[in-house]
Amino acid sequence: MTQRHDNLINGEWLAGTGYAPNLNPSNLADVIGEYAQGDAAQLDAAVRAARAAFPAWATSGIQARFDALDKIGSEILARKEELGTLLAREEGKTRAEGIGEAARAGAIFKFFAGECLRGAGETLPSVRPGIGVEITREPVGVVGLITPWNFPIAIPAWKIAPALAYGNCVVLKPADLVPGCAWALAEIISRSGIPAGVFNLVMGRGSVIGDALVNHPGIDAISFTGSQGVGARIAAACAQNLKKVQLEMGGKNPQVVLDDADLAQAVELSVQSAFYSTGQRCTASSRLIVTEGIYPKFVAAMQERMAKIRVGDALAQGTDIGPVASLSQLEQDLSYIEIGQGEGALLAAGGERLKLATDGYYMTPALFSESSQDMRINREEIFGPVASIIRVKDYEAALACANDTPFGLSAGIATSSLKYATHFKRHSQAGMVMVNLPTAGVDYHVPFGGRKGSSYGPREQGRYAQEFFTTVKTAYTLA
Ligand code: NAD
Repeated sequence: MTQRHDNLINGEWLAGTGYAPNLNPSNLADVIGEYAQGDAAQLDAAVRAARAAFPAWATSGIQARFDALDKIGSEILARKEELGTLLAREEGKTRAEGIGEAARAGAIFKFFAGECLRGAGETLPSVRPGIGVEITREPVGVVGLITPWNFPIAIPAWKIAPALAYGNCVVLKPADLVPGCAWALAEIISRSGIPAGVFNLVMGRGSVIGDALVNHPGIDAISFTGSQGVGARIAAACAQNLKKVQLEMGGKNPQVVLDDADLAQAVELSVQSAFYSTGQRCTASSRLIVTEGIYPKFVAAMQERMAKIRVGDALAQGTDIGPVASLSQLEQDLSYIEIGQGEGALLAAGGERLKLATDGYYMTPALFSESSQDMRINREEIFGPVASIIRVKDYEAALACANDTPFGLSAGIATSSLKYATHFKRHSQAGMVMVNLPTAGVDYHVPFGGRKGSSYGPREQGRYAQEFFTTVKTAYTLA
């Protein structure tokens, strides 16, 4: 029988009202496990447990928090191959990418273990003589964390670790498509020494558990990563209930390639950020904006390079790109191939459903050329291995095109010109800018996030995470 995985509420593993199978997108005959589906009553129990645990955890002291987070990080790092394999099996990125993501999750816990010991305040003199002023940070309270399917362990980690480090209690609702890594992480956290109720896992559907979490009066703050539509609705609900909210959402990230770029480097970084992890990264570049002098060479070199990409089972040796994560995502990706062709773009490579030895959601990465900025394929987030090349006259046109989007997460430029690189870093309307590097692939110790329709609220990761997970107190003392 397939193994069942329960919800973690107040330190106990509790059966769901039902169970949902977790399927391997590389091989639909492979059922990874059955995962509990909670209901609103279980969610309520988790929030109550977190509230009850909060006063003690908020004042537990930095050594206890350091010890727990350090232990969690150590175990993730020690088990990165096993966890990375589980990740590849449930989400479809390659095993190497999965192991890399698991290692990143471990490093994040280690980083925030250190942050427990570095929590500094400020002491200032008052403008009124004889009075001292102290500025300190306190936890926000009970935070609800809602995560997407494309980074099944790293995104839960980069929300849970700062939440716990700064003294908050947590209710995590992971993506229903990929509960395996979240459950494994919860199991590790449950043995870390943190008291019952400090961390709770409630799996289930977004419309049931996510919605109940956002609207629960016992939740002080919501940190969400996912699509723009769901994010906007969550922000509206949080505003109504005066909850603190942080949203990380979609992207339509530009990769600019200038005439003076190193062609081989530009092709490699474009292929890497457009198609690796099956293009299912919020930081993936889906618009390759290329100046006219290098355009013909770039298109030809991309076609040549893409012919060498091996699409296959995420766990197989030699696979560069695994399957799409779900049937609905595959259908969406393929529908945009038709939309792009209908709009008059030229399909320069890929874009076909692939039948392999196992039944999975495979497609060849797709590249459009001769596309224009007003086409839907260049305005809407597709979230798959689909990218298009837009030809522009010069750097100024490239910058204008790069910024002409409702999103603003990541942006890249390939150039050998210091002048253009410097100008692009300054004038790109994105939260993260890359020079001669892929738009995807970021460090864990520095802020992550975007502008415009990509992000809302304080940044995630690194020290900047404290802006969301703490609240500031200003105290005055008469000497
Ligand atoms: P999604 O919005 O469908 O789901 C995200 C989470 O929200 C899931 O856990 C889902 O169950 C939950 N949810 C759904 N409906 C809800 C509701 N009514 N109330 C509360 N929660 C609800 O997104 P997805 O398909 O899982 O992920 C893909 C999206 O995530 C893409 O748009 C991608 O760009 C984005 N993403 C952004 C970042 C970033 O940091 N900017 C990182 C990764 C993914």
